[in-house]
Amino acid sequence: MDVSHLLDQLNDAQREAVTADEGHVLVLAGAGSGKTRVLVHRIAWLIQVHHVSPMGLLAVTFTNKAAGEMRHRVGKLLNLRPDGLWIGTFHGICHRMLRMHAAEVGLPETFQILDSDDQYRLIRRVIRDMELDEGEFPARQMQGFINHHKEEGRRPGDIECFDHAFQARQLAIYQHYQDYCERSGLIDFAELLLRTLELLRDSDARRAHYQDRFGHILIDEFQDTNTLQYALVRLLAGSKNQLFVVGDDDQSIYGWRGAKVENVVHFDRDFSPKVVRLEQNYRSTATILEAANRVIDHNAERMGKNLWTEGEKGEALKLFTAFNAEEEAEFVIARIQDWMEQGGRASETAILYRSNAQSRLFEQVLLREEIPYRVYGGLRFFERAEVKDAMAYLRLVHNPHDDPAFERVINLPARGIGERTVALIRDHARRQGQSLFEAARSLCESGGFTARAGNAVAGFLALIGELTDEYGQAGLGEAMQAAIDRAELADWYRSREPADRAEAREENLAELVRAAESFTQPFEDEQAGLSPTASFLAQAALEAGEHQGERWQDCVQLMTLHSAKGLEFPLVFMAGMEEGLFPHQKSAEEPGRLAEERRLCYVGMTRAMQQLVLSHAESRMIHGQTNFSRPSRFLSEIPAELVEELRPGRPRVAPAQSHGGAPQDAEGLSLGTTVRHPRFGLGTVVTIEGQGANARIQINFESAGSKWLVLGYASLERV
Ligand code: ATP
Ligand code: MG
Repeated sequence: MDVSHLLDQLNDAQREAVTADEGHVLVLAGAGSGKTRVLVHRIAWLIQVHHVSPMGLLAVTFTNKAAGEMRHRVGKLLNLRPDGLWIGTFHGICHRMLRMHAAEVGLPETFQILDSDDQYRLIRRVIRDMELDEGEFPARQMQGFINHHKEEGRRPGDIECFDHAFQARQLAIYQHYQDYCERSGLIDFAELLLRTLELLRDSDARRAHYQDRFGHILIDEFQDTNTLQYALVRLLAGSKNQLFVVGDDDQSIYGWRGAKVENVVHFDRDFSPKVVRLEQNYRSTATILEAANRVIDHNAERMGKNLWTEGEKGEALKLFTAFNAEEEAEFVIARIQDWMEQGGRASETAILYRSNAQSRLFEQVLLREEIPYRVYGGLRFFERAEVKDAMAYLRLVHNPHDDPAFERVINLPARGIGERTVALIRDHARRQGQSLFEAARSLCESGGFTARAGNAVAGFLALIGELTDEYGQAGLGEAMQAAIDRAELADWYRSREPADRAEAREENLAELVRAAESFTQPFEDEQAGLSPTASFLAQAALEAGEHQGERWQDCVQLMTLHSAKGLEFPLVFMAGMEEGLFPHQKSAEEPGRLAEERRLCYVGMTRAMQQLVLSHAESRMIHGQTNFSRPSRFLSEIPAELVEELRPGRPRVAPAQSHGGAPQDAEGLSLGTTVRHPRFGLGTVVTIEGQGANARIQINFESAGSKWLVLGYASLERV
């Protein structure tokens, strides 16, 4: 069989990795050097040349989107659909295994995944039930505490307690929360991993089964695996299976969530793999690559790489200083319009930022300019209130003991079930060790409610019962639609919200029905015996908004730097390059965090293929306050000769109302005037644009160099 197509488009080092014989392989290489490509070709190579059945392969990626992409690329290389091949995220794969062995790990078949928002609410509930002070035990912190321990594989009993009353209470909260989850058939993200680990560790039969099945395990973005994931990999590998692992220590950006870049070193120690280094970058222009390399050079303790490219030099990076965040957004969108006018596509452009809240301003301008866009991450589609409301009905139909779903919709839409009634149900449930649904039913039967509340609760239980009977077996789309209609959700939003808000919610509900209708269950899920509803609900909880806006193929991509990992775009904007925002202010608090922020900067820069545009704003509203900030230190780490500073055009946006210094009159200053700035010191005015407080002036400072400032903010003093 001719397999040259699997090797032609690879360089020597890549080919060496793809065709490696028996044994483990570690591909350690910088951004854009073809690690993911190598992994895809390796899968195809194993199937076509070594005749490994797709069923014998397990490939792990970081997002569902990457998994879909990988499946598609393997299919293209092989010219057939690789059915039976398990490709997914660690969470997705663990979910599937747990569904197949629910009983063995003590889970009801209908167990539900608790997303982080539901988890937070549940923890808050537990803290209240325990009558602890929420000031002393903030739910958010307890959520971090619990997840952290789970990610390290620790149950409450495994945590050493030094007899501190405080610590003992934290452990009690963890334990209560866990009991609650067990009772209600709920499983949080970390639990997905931990349960699977326990399943494989404690059951010889299961471990043997999966070890026999997955002769080859391939993992992308290995630098961001956490302790549990690494432990899982070791269990699955056993003593005879082959691991093919690719990663880049410079792109480890999830340390804050428990990822351990040391896993790369551990892997080398534990498995003695053949190590392949890729050094040629195929993604970016030489200029972009050089800039990114120079930034990451500022980190100590790197494994060290030498990344080069044969690509063209390309354009200089662009740097834009906006006087506020609104102007930054206007600037970025105007550049995207230029790109499109010159024949570029919207989907070739990406706006990357450090924090989700930054997307709003860009969205506003994109909407106004009628440019289609898609926001990844952010408030994910499945996290929107109305979508969660409707999904809660579907969850209850699937599993009536899903307490968070029950709490969410027992009085939504309002059916006259007050907080007192709910408290009664909760209390009964706690005492009887029942789910809320069961407690509500037994209270109804025993006449435990007032007549009015009793009727209302009975009505709700009947509604869930009807949906279960009539639509339990129906198609997903139909069941979803029925839940929305019977619960009269649309009427409910319309009755309490302005028309445009309600309409937006209805559109999202319609979108949800479409999503349910068009949901195709992964073949592997079906094979594993999962119901389509279970697959759908799991996907909703696990995916990172990746299917949002799928109808727009050609749209601008907006996402955080974190979610840009592994992707590439011809034109990349990195916005909000300001101290405090990026590097994030938190990085000042913990050692190691700054280095992680710098790796994030490296990840962002290396997404760009042809053009990289950096921007920062001198002022930005944060929590209703105008903040002034200095440019990010990362900007100063890029050699000046690689950067072209763009001159701002005329100011198009008025600065925010509240501001620092008293307005000054531009007329008072003229070209050549010497001024003193509180931070930048002495300088000379070289340009003035606009008038009054909004005027923008460019000043050549003796020590700080050339700056554009807004007169109203600048607190300049004539000397
Ligand atoms: P990251 O670290 O960002 O995940 P990566 O190392 O996984 O990057 P890939 O995404 O696999 O890199 O590849 C980067 C780009 O280079 C892709 O567009 C890929 O198709 C291209 N590429 C990789 N190897 C080659 C090659 N030998 N010839 C031509 N193009 C290549
Ligand atoms: Mg990659």
